Amino acid sequence: MNLAEPFAQAGLCPMLRLFVFMTLLDLLHKKRDGLALSEAEIEFIIKSYLEERVPDYQMSALLMAIYFQGMNDSETVALTRLMRDSGVVMDFSHVPGPKVDKHSTGGVGDKVSLILAPLMAAAGVYVPMISGRGLGHTGGTLDKLEAIPGFRTQLPLHKFRELTEKIGTCLIGQTEEICPADRRIYALRDVTATVSAIPLICASILSKKLAEGLDALVLDVKVGEGAIFKDAATAEKLARRLIATATHFRLRTMAVLTDMSQPLGNAIGNWVEVVEAIEVLRGGGPEDTKQVTLALGAAMLQAVGKSDDIKSSMRTLNKLLQNGAAWEKFLEVVTAQGGEVGVLHEPARYAQPTSIIPIKAAQAGYVAAINARELGRLSMALGAGRANLKQGVDPLAGIMLHKKVGEAVVTGEILATLQSSTIHIDEAHLHSARSSFSISEQSPKIPPLLLAKLDEHGRHELAL
Ligand code: URA
Repeated sequence: MNLAEPFAQAGLCPMLRLFVFMTLLDLLHKKRDGLALSEAEIEFIIKSYLEERVPDYQMSALLMAIYFQGMNDSETVALTRLMRDSGVVMDFSHVPGPKVDKHSTGGVGDKVSLILAPLMAAAGVYVPMISGRGLGHTGGTLDKLEAIPGFRTQLPLHKFRELTEKIGTCLIGQTEEICPADRRIYALRDVTATVSAIPLICASILSKKLAEGLDALVLDVKVGEGAIFKDAATAEKLARRLIATATHFRLRTMAVLTDMSQPLGNAIGNWVEVVEAIEVLRGGGPEDTKQVTLALGAAMLQAVGKSDDIKSSMRTLNKLLQNGAAWEKFLEVVTAQGGEVGVLHEPARYAQPTSIIPIKAAQAGYVAAINARELGRLSMALGAGRANLKQGVDPLAGIMLHKKVGEAVVTGEILATLQSSTIHIDEAHLHSARSSFSISEQSPKIPPLLLAKLDEHGRHELAL
């Protein structure tokens, strides 16, 4: 029976409204008690919620029940399919080459997409990239791109298709037409402490990526204090589940587990991260950011069958950073999406923050840890992020790290600088920055950057 049909008319009939309420209550009982939901039941829930026949409080209860009871593979696949089909599924079959994207589970200082999309386009693969905004303690690619004067991330889908085909990549935000179910459910998860439920993460990420019409996908699953999951075992569980669910849709998917115990690179914020991405695109920049980008890029080439040798692909992609090909492609993308390139050539011409405050080391020693989550929250508090999607961001706000884990410091040396144009930087901000740094007498063990790589069967490949 198609359960959704009777409720399509629920707006007309008070008795049916009651029936909807009762049925959803039944499904809530079922999930709360650890039973699996059928595809028809999940369809009924998603459709009723999108048609506003299910209130947020019942949906929140269901999300919490899923958080505690989980979902089996069939439920996760059904939820992913229904969320994907809540909007447009794009067709890129006319594009004459492999289409591949990267998705990160979210980190602090993660500007990899800004570098990777033009780099991969320069390497001859197509990257139709739909990105998100910063929410919570993690930044968002769209906010960073929009720090470039004039850059447009809200393009109609036909333009997105056209630019991807012409340039090799285009970076836009999720539109009204793509996965509306994810947009509504994600916003609710964000305020009901249910973001870190593995089946919900799988359905959320994969519904959007499946709607992009890709041939392959590479996942950057972050591990550590600044990530959704702090421990490698749970992050790996998420990676396997993502790969297994994607495989069900014949989307070839691989995962790289990367460190997020400290921020990636030295810049956290919007414009500061664009500047750091430019440095990498011009052949310099922080080594950790470059290595993560190259490893993900090499996995993308492998996922589309262009090269199986990760090390040699990393060398090939590095050449495209060194010889200016990736940088030229970035300029082409920015121009096509309405951005000003003059300021990219001379970032010093950009507006300056109204406050810049240094954070100095209170003792000598070695930086033993930098709390990525705390600094992510601090950057958001300085104006670089938002508490809800309706707020704007300060492109100039953020944090520059002058020291990373393992580096020696002397008393009074600058560890970081805080900057903002909208917020008065006060003692609470300074305290948060100072307490994010742990200084030890002994030189610490530096956490590995690239922790593991899983192939499309979820098997560990040789060390990266
Ligand atoms: N990124 C997403 O798009 N969805 C999630 O649920 C988590 C990370």
